[in-house]
Amino acid sequence: MYRSYFKHLECSVCGTQHSGSELLAVCKTCGKALLASYDIASARSGLRREEVASGGDSFWKYLPMLPLRSPSSIVSLGERMTPILRLTSLERKFGTGPVWVKDEAMMPTGSFKARGLALAVTRAHELGVRHVCLPSAGNAAGACAAYAARAGMGCTIVVPKDTPAANIEECRIYGADVRQVDGTISDAANEIQKLKKEHSDWFDVSTLKEPYRLEGKKTMGYELAEQFSWNLPDVIIYPTGGGTGLIGMWKAFGEMEGLGWIGPARPKMISSQAAGCAPIVKAFAEGKSESEFWEHAHTKASGLRVPKAFADYLILRTIRESGGSAFAVTDERAAEAVRKVGKQEGFFFCPEGATTVVALEQATKAGFVKRDAAVLLWNTAAAAKYPGFAS
Ligand SMILES: [Zn+2]
Repeated sequence: MYRSYFKHLECSVCGTQHSGSELLAVCKTCGKALLASYDIASARSGLRREEVASGGDSFWKYLPMLPLRSPSSIVSLGERMTPILRLTSLERKFGTGPVWVKDEAMMPTGSFKARGLALAVTRAHELGVRHVCLPSAGNAAGACAAYAARAGMGCTIVVPKDTPAANIEECRIYGADVRQVDGTISDAANEIQKLKKEHSDWFDVSTLKEPYRLEGKKTMGYELAEQFSWNLPDVIIYPTGGGTGLIGMWKAFGEMEGLGWIGPARPKMISSQAAGCAPIVKAFAEGKSESEFWEHAHTKASGLRVPKAFADYLILRTIRESGGSAFAVTDERAAEAVRKVGKQEGFFFCPEGATTVVALEQATKAGFVKRDAAVLLWNTAAAAKYPGFAS
């Protein structure tokens, strides 16, 4: 018998409770991000981790801790748990404990964005939405277009003009209406705001401007905990644009401790950004709780070209709570890391993922990652979507 322990939505800033069965975007009181809240006490006695883990090879097995009304609503493109590979050449080079990479290139549409958009589209579909819209820096566009097509929904995407061609092409193949604007994802978001005024029935699935993409990204935390036999690595390095994955993993760790699935130990959460667009690195270094808009953002790691993340305050809070840090990486150093790891390991990092390798080097040199530390890097997308980045 299916049971979801989802209770309601709660504002991440003012704490106002909102109904979980209504179609909502952000907090009605203060306009900040809404978080899904669960009946952890009941789930603690009702859910055994081994039983949940044995429920298949995709993140849908964590359904009791996801907000769906019914499993029959699931919009799926064949998601699988993504592999974790050990990169011994990096251990030798940086003198750390084991270094692992979780390879999200294996998700449908070739990126981690599938997790969030599978959930957001499924939930929007359950709540009666017929048309979704999204500003994107690249991979979220493809995932949104694919899941919307799968659900039989309309989809409008706005991307910067210099978004990788592969992302634009896949959206067109999935039948989405794709529009291009000058500038960055922030300009794309402004265009979406304008379009929404003309189309009041469109639902915006922008990062953290609706509550359910985060729930999809949260499965990264559940999945890695299970794959590491419920002992989390010491350090997680995550390429950070909008930051949903970082915030989602942290939320998952908290929920799992409440469920009695893991103990109180937490990884240091390290954020890697591009030197040409590093608002989180700057705000972290300056001790600020929010970032400033990054002018003239430029990097070929398109997923990191986010001048101001909507939930920057949650990213910074997560990094600080975890005792983590943030590092900026040039495109040149990232490209060099792609080539080295490719040759030594047979593993092809995407540009965003490659920033985690360079951030590990910086963190090790700074003495921030200890010699025996177990480290998990994230490769967030298929490198083939970025032809020419490292060659
Ligand atoms: Zn609020």
